[in-house]
Amino acid sequence: MRALRLQRWKSEPELVEVPEPAPGPGQVVVRVGGAGACHSDLHLMDDFDEGSVPWNPPFTLGHENAGWVHALGDGVTGLTVGQPVAVFGAWGCGTCARCRVGVDPYCENPAGAPVPGGGGGLGLDGGMAEFELVPDARHVVPLPAGLDPVDAAPLTDAGLTPYHAIRRSWHRLAPGSTTVVIGIGGLGHVGVQILKATTATRVIAVDTRADALRLAEECGADLTVPSGTTAAEEIRQATGGLGADLVLDFVGADATLALGAAVARTVSDLAIVGIGGGTLPVGFFSVPYEMSVATTYWGSRPELIEVLDLGARGLVRPKTVRLPLDDALTAYRRMRDGTLDGRAVIVP
Ligand code: NAD
Ligand code: ZN
Repeated sequence: MRALRLQRWKSEPELVEVPEPAPGPGQVVVRVGGAGACHSDLHLMDDFDEGSVPWNPPFTLGHENAGWVHALGDGVTGLTVGQPVAVFGAWGCGTCARCRVGVDPYCENPAGAPVPGGGGGLGLDGGMAEFELVPDARHVVPLPAGLDPVDAAPLTDAGLTPYHAIRRSWHRLAPGSTTVVIGIGGLGHVGVQILKATTATRVIAVDTRADALRLAEECGADLTVPSGTTAAEEIRQATGGLGADLVLDFVGADATLALGAAVARTVSDLAIVGIGGGTLPVGFFSVPYEMSVATTYWGSRPELIEVLDLGARGLVRPKTVRLPLDDALTAYRRMRDGTLDGRAVIVP
């Protein structure tokens, strides 16, 4: 079968021929219906090097996958061949306290995980191929009725990651609250939809691109603000000088973190989701009182089930651009150029 593989750090992935995987005991092979192209893949190509993470290329890209069960290894029960499924992408050890409650991204026994801190498309072979080998059947989550695998794929990361970051701050998002979403790309536009579907918060969307702000409006944003020197002032004014109860930074650069801190309210949350390499200087007088800052990584298995429910009921619908495996590099080029709206999903 063909697969889009990252062969080495600091390089473009290559479309190459690889053997079709076969499931060992407890494993599942999924026929890929859709594999989302995430900006994290650009970080893998551009920014990562030997020592950045505990694993190295070569591996097949694609950590945002859904499809159909293709083959079951010995001992796997509760799944049937042909069944539509999503792949929970963070593959922890399965036995530590975090993994036992479905929080594999924060696995506390990385030495017992198939790849420490990673999963398919992140150290092991992912979904940008005809088939994906999932090393433990517990990562295969049946899709609720009415959800197509191609539509479901982005929900496993572009949906799950913002969902987790939003859910942990639900208690702040009462009517009258404000949430600022910075970066309305693959994750951010779904984040706006999740805020609208699950809370009564007012949503202010920020991006550098006019098309992204238009997409934010389509997703229900109450106000859009172009990124730039006047953004903080505009957001302060729009909140009566108070600022935002939650800031979701889907960029994570110095400038966006500074903007986030400048527009946060006292007693608020700032979630750093984007891995843009920035840092936020925190001092007694430089950030609002009782603003909590957290980085968040992906989400839990129970949260994926909740996001899939939002998807199946049409409350969250990622805007997708579908491309064949042959055009996967086009997806990444458009993401780089800023000419991609929503999420590119590779349909192998
Ligand atoms: P994307 O390329 O689809 O979207 C990024 C958006 O940010 C674009 O719309 C872009 O125009 C906008 N942007 C860029 N610079 C900006 C600025 N200075 N101000 C405002 N907007 C700006 O990317 P994505 O796939 O949505 O991923 C977003 C980030 O989240 C990436 O860094 C990615 O690696 C990271 N990520 C993190 C996790 C996690 O678990 N923490 C999971 C997935 C992705
Ligand atoms: Zn990702």
